[in-house]
Amino acid sequence: MSKDKDKLRPATRLVEAGRRPEWTGAVVNPPVWRASTHLYASEADRKAALKNNRDGQFYYGRRGAPTQWALAEALTEIEPGAHGTVLYPSGVAAISGALMAVLRPGDELLVCDNAYEPSRAMAMGLLKRWGVSARFFDPLDLDAYAAMFTDKTRAVWLESPGSLTMEVCDVPAQAAIAREKGAVSLLDNTWATALGFPALKHGCDISVMSLSKHVGGHSDLMMGSASAGERYYRALRRTAQQIGHVVSPDDAALALRGLRTMGLRLERSTANARTVAEWLSGRSEVAQVLCPLLPGDPGHALWSRDFSGGCGLFSFILASDNPDAQAQLVNNLELFGIGYSWGGFESLALPFDAKSIREKMPWPPHKAETGGGHGIRLSIGLEDPEDLIADLERGLAATGNA
Ligand SMILES: *Cc1c(COP(=O)(O)O)cnc(C)c1O
Repeated sequence: MSKDKDKLRPATRLVEAGRRPEWTGAVVNPPVWRASTHLYASEADRKAALKNNRDGQFYYGRRGAPTQWALAEALTEIEPGAHGTVLYPSGVAAISGALMAVLRPGDELLVCDNAYEPSRAMAMGLLKRWGVSARFFDPLDLDAYAAMFTDKTRAVWLESPGSLTMEVCDVPAQAAIAREKGAVSLLDNTWATALGFPALKHGCDISVMSLSKHVGGHSDLMMGSASAGERYYRALRRTAQQIGHVVSPDDAALALRGLRTMGLRLERSTANARTVAEWLSGRSEVAQVLCPLLPGDPGHALWSRDFSGGCGLFSFILASDNPDAQAQLVNNLELFGIGYSWGGFESLALPFDAKSIREKMPWPPHKAETGGGHGIRLSIGLEDPEDLIADLERGLAATGNA
């Protein structure tokens, strides 16, 4: 990045990032370069490319072409402190790719107890098979976390707010403790993105995102990324090249298009989510709203201290003990789709129960005095929040606990 670009504010960076004239030519966006074979000008040129494994150099399709390079560079430019970004075919591929880049057999990984479920599964499944052991920690108990490090602890996996249950963690303190103990800190930063939480500036070594969520933004692509400073970027890149991770140029072009409006979409979905969450807090059918945007939420103070933005994703717990209440609610929604993923322009609702995917944290949380821990996660999109509230009112009425 040039010196001048360094000074740009985030909104301007989203517009400018990754648009190098040598990649875009005379048009605004880099064209979709579909390429397996890059042709060399001469044999000397091909031999030079073999020796020169630099970014932004044609080699073979597995190392990408300008469409993918532009997206990777754009993500690097919006992540202060990043030297580079590796793209992966999904967010989960970014998680496994990043962990495999830093872990070796015999190492131990510490994983926050509120991590995304496939991250847990990877720690207990794939990584175990590769000779890496994993233990979970309560991300709200810094002393207990600090006491868990051993000589074998090579890395910590962080996520904030936690998946489904939305606890905001003191990531700057967690990353600082990891560094002091000689461990690499990796953060799943899908919720906030670099716009809401500049992870490397807050002390994390590697920032991972599912681009299928906010960056894509339109529920039509799967992709992931990991950004890091120079040392860990090299490790990420080497491992991704060895595994053979590559993303399609068509998807990269879609992700770049999504990125340009991500700031605006996040602002609007955050405002909509706050409106809907406040309304849910006043409903008798709701035992507890889990949303750090709300001043009464246990995570609000840390969120206000560390984050400069939010998004449309939060959860709530139904007051009803009835095991059918979640289905009754979502089956009666007309605007909210029932589905995985989130961060799109459209709103989604997902029933969940966190009991089986928490080891160190109680579920339901202590504060929910009523209710059986029947949770609903909402991804609030760009609709008018009053229409979404009317839809939820219909759904809540169907839970039979008004
Ligand atoms: C969805 C998600 C992922 C995985 O991303 P995919 O692109 O669906 O593979 C990772 N982390 C979090 C927090 C997610 O919600």
